[in-house]
Amino acid sequence: MFNRPQSSHSKDRVAYCFNHDAGNFHYGQGHPMKPPRLTLTHNLVMNYGLYKHMDVFHTRRAFDEEIANFHSQDYIEFLKRVTPNNVNNFTKFLSRYNLGIDDCPIFEGIYDFCRLSCGGSLEAARKLTSGQTDLAINWSGGLHHARKSEASGFCYTNDIVLAALELLRYFPRVLYVDIDVHHGDGVQEAFYASNRVLSVSFHKYDGHFFPGTGSLDEIGTHLGKYYSLNVPLLDYIDDNSYAYIFKHVLSMVIETFRPGAIIMQCGTDSLAGDKLGTFNISVHGHGECVRFLKSFNIPLMTVGGGGYTIRNVSRCWTYETSIMANTPIPDVLPENEYMEYFGPDYRLNPPIVDNHLENANSRAYLDQLRIQIAEILRYMETAPSVQMQELPPDLQGFMENGGNWKVDEEEDDIINDTLDYKKRESPLYYKRRDKELTEVHINELYDDSNDQDHDGNTDDELEIEV
Ligand SMILES: [Zn+2]
Repeated sequence: MFNRPQSSHSKDRVAYCFNHDAGNFHYGQGHPMKPPRLTLTHNLVMNYGLYKHMDVFHTRRAFDEEIANFHSQDYIEFLKRVTPNNVNNFTKFLSRYNLGIDDCPIFEGIYDFCRLSCGGSLEAARKLTSGQTDLAINWSGGLHHARKSEASGFCYTNDIVLAALELLRYFPRVLYVDIDVHHGDGVQEAFYASNRVLSVSFHKYDGHFFPGTGSLDEIGTHLGKYYSLNVPLLDYIDDNSYAYIFKHVLSMVIETFRPGAIIMQCGTDSLAGDKLGTFNISVHGHGECVRFLKSFNIPLMTVGGGGYTIRNVSRCWTYETSIMANTPIPDVLPENEYMEYFGPDYRLNPPIVDNHLENANSRAYLDQLRIQIAEILRYMETAPSVQMQELPPDLQGFMENGGNWKVDEEEDDIINDTLDYKKRESPLYYKRRDKELTEVHINELYDDSNDQDHDGNTDDELEIEV
């Protein structure tokens, strides 16, 4: 039924990238994003003995220069400087960078957290490009909403974009697959005008659910036209429906795009019972997507993402680690330091699915999505840009306008008319672009009138050379 290649006979090598420090951050009282879920996950992975079947790497923090491959220098400098104690000195920059509000608070060690997340994904990508591994994992990555100069949806820096750029140094084409309940808008935006990264996001979409983007008619622009695919789903989708649409779409995508490597964002807020999500998927249903992508024997890295019922986040990423490591593990959880989190069932795949919830995604709806996505892929195949470069170009030039390109509305209208889709109704995606995103000179960061000591430096700032 699906274009699934034969499994390879040799056992895949798996690089598990982790830094214990990543779990030691606190977004603030009552904030749904809880970094300790990474510690919980690592705890289960270790206690199941999965480390025996993988190469475990203690990853380093990303350097500023590495993060600057996507993010603007002024935004990075701001993240480095701002702390909960000095945030009042920087109020005029908070709205510019979308920081300090409920979603993206300033917390202690914010930039260190970013460096750890990015460092892990860069390490995972480099293990793939160097040929040291076939599969790589970084559960502390997957922060898909962050933009070039702006935080969004609990995400400050976009480790996925950095990892994709790293993969593009070696692989001509990279596929990005996102199964978080929210649209992978930050990654889509970064590569919206590129034909070398194909972004496919499965998410809840009703025009209002965060981040408000991800409709079927966001298909890319310029060279990237037809290289962004969105699968807008409705409430309470179950395992069968999810597998049905996921496998159909990815089979078509891989056959057409022929990626050299895949990044899979495994946000677990798509699980049933998530505090923010509205899907009805089990741990096994979520993991089935990983199993399916892995079966193509294409270099694959998985990263984390959302996930706000943290006992289930850690269960799911542990299960998916076992799939990557090709090592079945028992459903009964092993003795571990945090056992009390997993009661009353103490199982890996607990009964989280609610059978009383009605799946709003009918088979007819899913088939319609499938047909429309097949149609976009047909355009992609016949587009001139399908003459794909085999030699990766200079990345600096490649990212010159990355994340800050302007939408050619006229061209988009033509695309939409051609595909006979509902006319774009100025989605939030583009509305948000009207925020001024001009580069900020680093010196500006010193100029705040509230600067306490009037020498341009607050107490705990680092020396920088401008
Ligand atoms: Zn999410």
